[in-house]
Amino acid sequence: MIKKNLIVTMAGLFFLAACSSAPKLDVSTLPPHHTADGRFRNTDTIGPLLLDTMHLEEAVKNFDNTFEPLPLIRGGESLWVDSSKNTATWIGQSTFYLRLGNIGVLTDPIFSNRASPVFFAGPKRGSPPGRILDSLPPVDLVLISHDHYDHLDKRSIKSIYKKYPQVIFAVPLKMAELLEDWGIPSAQIIEKDWWEEAYFKDLKLTFVPAHHKAQRFIFDRNQNKRLWGGWIIQKKERSIWFAGDIAMGDGSYYKEIASRFAPIDFCLLPIGSYLPARLTRMHVSPRQAAQLHLLMKSKFSIAMHWATFNLTKDRMWDPPNDLNRARYELSIPEDRFRVSGMGEIILIWDNNLSDN
Ligand SMILES: [Zn+2]
Repeated sequence: MIKKNLIVTMAGLFFLAACSSAPKLDVSTLPPHHTADGRFRNTDTIGPLLLDTMHLEEAVKNFDNTFEPLPLIRGGESLWVDSSKNTATWIGQSTFYLRLGNIGVLTDPIFSNRASPVFFAGPKRGSPPGRILDSLPPVDLVLISHDHYDHLDKRSIKSIYKKYPQVIFAVPLKMAELLEDWGIPSAQIIEKDWWEEAYFKDLKLTFVPAHHKAQRFIFDRNQNKRLWGGWIIQKKERSIWFAGDIAMGDGSYYKEIASRFAPIDFCLLPIGSYLPARLTRMHVSPRQAAQLHLLMKSKFSIAMHWATFNLTKDRMWDPPNDLNRARYELSIPEDRFRVSGMGEIILIWDNNLSDN
């Protein structure tokens, strides 16, 4: 257990802080989430710590939070070759393969065995990828939410570019330089600030705020120097919110997203890494995810960010169990906010049907 705690602590250090100085900018001309030293910040207030789960931390100090592999779900591949069908396939953590008509989109792709700068150490995945890259239909677009290792994986980015040399990467402000260092041509990177828009084929993309932070590892000079957020994808009259990693904050970011985009047809919402309760300053709890589902008037949501990398104190089945409870308490039907199987191909809407 000591060894395991040490590994968990070391894993956590990848996500912890360091600072450096930078030339001062004129803040009067900058949006409020930009700081004078060229970094970014959350502009909403921090919400109170949550103790809304069934787990009293003191009572379960030594619980076993080992992750076991989820079974891989197969079938439904014919949906991928029918351009009237739009599907979502969970690969693990926040990685989804979205097949939107003829367009293939990957969110925060990580196919690697570890969320780490090196292949031999760091947080190891509990479940293998739901699908390997070679088994997926083509990838045209990659959406990145922020630079944490479990969301931005160098090996996966390079593999995708090698297999699909024309692929476009849509990334937060100031992340392009990092991808260019990895060999991605700048012409294939779309870099956006909060509320900025971009177009890709018949998709309209909007980079939207999230209460979170950014840094790659301890002593990272670039702490909060790359922006973080989520993506709204609009395709004709349909909309998707890929939330990325989010804490609730005071909720104002999400109220604004809802005011601009709700009702949203399909939401990808994180439900894991919320224990101990102080982590709700970085991540939403399952109950908060359920509240966001309601706020966005989401017609259908799928949970993400669980059962993949064991980075925090929630046990593997805590997120879906707590989501179950929240759904019951908030009267959300089970088929409106569901947990996906690993690798499962889920139909999110059918162009031939107007109301599903
Ligand atoms: Zn994160």
